[in-house]
Amino acid sequence: MSVKQIVVLGAGIGGMSAAYELRGALARDRAAITVIGEGPKFSFTPSNPWVAVGWRKPADIQVDAPKYLAKKRIDFETCGADRVLPEKSEVLLRDGRTLSYDYLVIATGPRLAFDEVPGLGPGAHSQSICTTDHAQAAWVAYEAFLKDPGPIVIGAAPGVSCFGPAYEFAMILDADLRKRKLRDRVPMTYVTSEPYIGHMGLGGVGDSKGLLESELRQRHIKWVANARITEVGPAELKAEELDERGQLAREHVIPFKYAMVMPPFTGVDAVRAAKEMCNPRGFVLIDAYQRNPRFPNVYAAGVCVAIPPVEQTPVPTGAPKTGFMIESMVGAIVANIRAEFDGQEVKARATWNAICLADMGDIGAAFVAIPQIPPRNVTWAKVGRWVHVAKIAFEKYFLAKMRSGNSEPIYEKYLLKLLGIDRLKSD
Ligand SMILES: Cc1cc2nc3c(=O)[nH]c(=O)nc-3n(C[C@H](O)[C@H](O)[C@H](O)COP(=O)(O)OP(=O)(O)OC[C@H]3O[C@@H](n4cnc5c(N)ncnc54)[C@H](O)[C@@H]3O)c2cc1C
Repeated sequence: MSVKQIVVLGAGIGGMSAAYELRGALARDRAAITVIGEGPKFSFTPSNPWVAVGWRKPADIQVDAPKYLAKKRIDFETCGADRVLPEKSEVLLRDGRTLSYDYLVIATGPRLAFDEVPGLGPGAHSQSICTTDHAQAAWVAYEAFLKDPGPIVIGAAPGVSCFGPAYEFAMILDADLRKRKLRDRVPMTYVTSEPYIGHMGLGGVGDSKGLLESELRQRHIKWVANARITEVGPAELKAEELDERGQLAREHVIPFKYAMVMPPFTGVDAVRAAKEMCNPRGFVLIDAYQRNPRFPNVYAAGVCVAIPPVEQTPVPTGAPKTGFMIESMVGAIVANIRAEFDGQEVKARATWNAICLADMGDIGAAFVAIPQIPPRNVTWAKVGRWVHVAKIAFEKYFLAKMRSGNSEPIYEKYLLKLLGIDRLKSD
């Protein structure tokens, strides 16, 4: 039996889980597994908002990926991929070498498209929490802001699909400023492309509208929804608020001393260069089994996957891809690659349930949408202190899992079963 080559592109939540689970399903005499990352660190992205207020140091939420993967006999390339060459079943690395694969799992997450709004992003006038490096830079800027506080704007630009972190960060900043007794000096505004508060790119989840409006009101955070952010200057953010027909209703110029705005996403350059594999924004096209229709030995999981918006909105919004959904995509990929190895039919499908725990600094909000696209079988949103505690537990648990390589340990399996949540679709 020859050993097949599996390459996993990206060492984030999707890529690391895929590598460990593939190893769990396929022994070394069947598959050689190589992960390609950008540098040696795995970062637990959901904790970035805590880094940005100094509640975590980057090292607290990062793991030395090559060290722990090696224990499971998984190779790691740190130089990053320059380009996927699907016609040749090869990945060109940034150091000029190429890796051949029998199967490729793409899990590169997003390219952060700051270029789509003038003045957006850490290279210009707003902070970002999308990567741990950005969150660390946001913390440095926040420390300076604390010495001379003023207005804060938190926003989500047109085309954003990831709204949870924007809400989270607004509430966490509020909690942090209250602890520091500085909240009275900081007017706060949330500006979003969502048609209404709590839409979250999902058409709402349970009463997420009422719930999040109430939280923002209680925390004295004003909001502008259905808004197209058109420009971020050094000290003010410009936005056009639309009515429900998409006509201009009002123009806003909001001054700030500190701004964090979520950018829209596209596919990363190394992947979107392979146009025949991607949609126009560079996200990887997949069939029901997570395989690329044109190149069936290419699978994809996570934020890099092309999924349509849940609904049309006056200002464009996208559908979020949250952690559990990503793990469910990974579960389907691993089952399907294993089936291919065994000469069986590929039939595992991800459930794509949206489950999100959003921290608010002292309490938190949990959202469950099963399935993600309405009409749904289960949909609820709840606020409580237990969510804040659950989110910390999730961070500790996931980082431990990245060190142990123990994919889907027994308690995760049973806890999710208890909540009526399955990773894979049963036919
Ligand atoms: C701030 C923030 C908070 C979030 N919080 C939550 C949450 O609380 N709960 C939840 O369910 N979801 C959350 N999400 C959504 C989602 O779970 C995360 O974005 C998650 O990290 C996505 O996983 P991923 O594997 O698709 O991409 P990522 O985790 O972004 O990983 C992609 C990896 O690929 C690497 N890569 C990219 N290009 C290349 C290349 N050319 N060569 C090699 N490597 C490459 C990147 O460096 C990165 O390490 C959050 C998202 C953000 C941005």
